[in-house]
Amino acid sequence: MRIAIAKYGQETNSFSSTLTTLDTFRKFGLYQGSDFLQHGVNAGPIAGLFAACQDQAFSWEPIPLVRGWAGASGKITEETHDWFVNNIVTQLANQMNVTDSIPDALFLDLHGAAQAVHLDDCEGELIAQCRDVLGKEIPIVVALDHHANLTEKMVGSASAIVAHRTQPHDPFDTGYQAGKMLVDILQGQVNPIMALEKIPMLTHQEQFLTSPAGPMQEWFQLARDRERVDGVLAISPCPMQPWLDTSEAGWGVVVVTDGDKSLAQEIAEEMAWFAWENRSRFMKQTSVPPELAVEKALHTDGFVILSDTGDSVFGGAPGDSTVLLKALMDITCEQDCLIPMVDPEVVQQAYVAGEGALVAVEIGGKQDCVFSQPVAIECEVVQLGGGRIEVEVIGNDSYDAGQAVLLRWRHILLAVTETEGVGGNHPVCYEQFGVDVNGVKLAVLKTASNFQYYRHLSPTIIRADSNGMTMSGVERLPWKSLSRPIFPLDDEVKFG
Ligand SMILES: [Zn+2]
Repeated sequence: MRIAIAKYGQETNSFSSTLTTLDTFRKFGLYQGSDFLQHGVNAGPIAGLFAACQDQAFSWEPIPLVRGWAGASGKITEETHDWFVNNIVTQLANQMNVTDSIPDALFLDLHGAAQAVHLDDCEGELIAQCRDVLGKEIPIVVALDHHANLTEKMVGSASAIVAHRTQPHDPFDTGYQAGKMLVDILQGQVNPIMALEKIPMLTHQEQFLTSPAGPMQEWFQLARDRERVDGVLAISPCPMQPWLDTSEAGWGVVVVTDGDKSLAQEIAEEMAWFAWENRSRFMKQTSVPPELAVEKALHTDGFVILSDTGDSVFGGAPGDSTVLLKALMDITCEQDCLIPMVDPEVVQQAYVAGEGALVAVEIGGKQDCVFSQPVAIECEVVQLGGGRIEVEVIGNDSYDAGQAVLLRWRHILLAVTETEGVGGNHPVCYEQFGVDVNGVKLAVLKTASNFQYYRHLSPTIIRADSNGMTMSGVERLPWKSLSRPIFPLDDEVKFG
């Protein structure tokens, strides 16, 4: 059997002014053809697909189309979106024209919340165009991030959709589930049908973890429980990332059954009602004002993660907020405090000055100059570094950190980078400079929920309610296109 595979992944923050281009995709690996098979199949959903096929002793040939991942940032340029769609669709069309090369199936690894400058539903458009080329019979199975904005177009064009089953993200397992279902389809064992329910709500990320206890754990557990019902193939609750400003934006759930549309619909409605009835619990906020968060961290034993909720690079914020830097400069601490900062100008200054030099810089607050401002600071250039970092993070096996530099100001160690990379959300950002994260007091992470790479340090997590493009106060974001009314932005929201 021949399975065509493609990855087009990006999470859009509609409020960011940083456009996403092909260069953004190149930082995390943009591959085609044999390069795709060499570099793009070792992690994430596509690695899961390969494992599922192997475990089922399924004989197949992968047909690599395009593999691109761009992390989270602003809208995708029209040119970039068209490049992906045209590339994938043209290759499929060419294969359909030669009898021996017709694919038996298409596996798409997508995010589900990508918006282009000219288009609100990038994934729906891609799947629909693939469907047009492949016809009605060839299965298209799609793996999504569960922060996807599920749309009618996606569900109407795909054969089956499976989103991440846990937060922190589980890209490999998602690909494995989707891959296993695809094998079952190709072997004639199942005949998938889907039902979609949208829920008129969006919430901040503070309750997004599916463990330990909490409403998200309960919602996802309900999905796992209902998956045990005879004929149910997959249930994907999708608490959409809360910075996508499109008319169709909002939470959703998609249920795949083996040919039973009414069962799929019934479970989708039950899942949607659970989310709706628990909407206030999903909005429970644990973050505290930045100064208080720093104070709490100082008085906590052991290693602390200080979550910069408003400047989450995994949510498309630029990673150059100085809110927590300023709060950390106001305290004294005997141990080191780690903070990442995106600032290409400062990196350049440090490279010119060289290791060991003192540099006076105006750091941060340049890309996100709405919510924070640059800070004047004189630092020691401890070490120069950067380059391609080989580490598995969010479904990729490496990323390009560009030039980077480690600066010191008293108790603060700043990992300053040209681009947001992974925003200090993995210890490798400091370990590349020889910093032992075991011995520090705290690390500022540019995420509100992806703390998994520091789990081995048994951290205490304290969330700072910092203003920014990914802030927990979703009602303070400048929404324009979102369909109203929607919870929690409006009072009178009806569901069902
Ligand atoms: Zn996500």
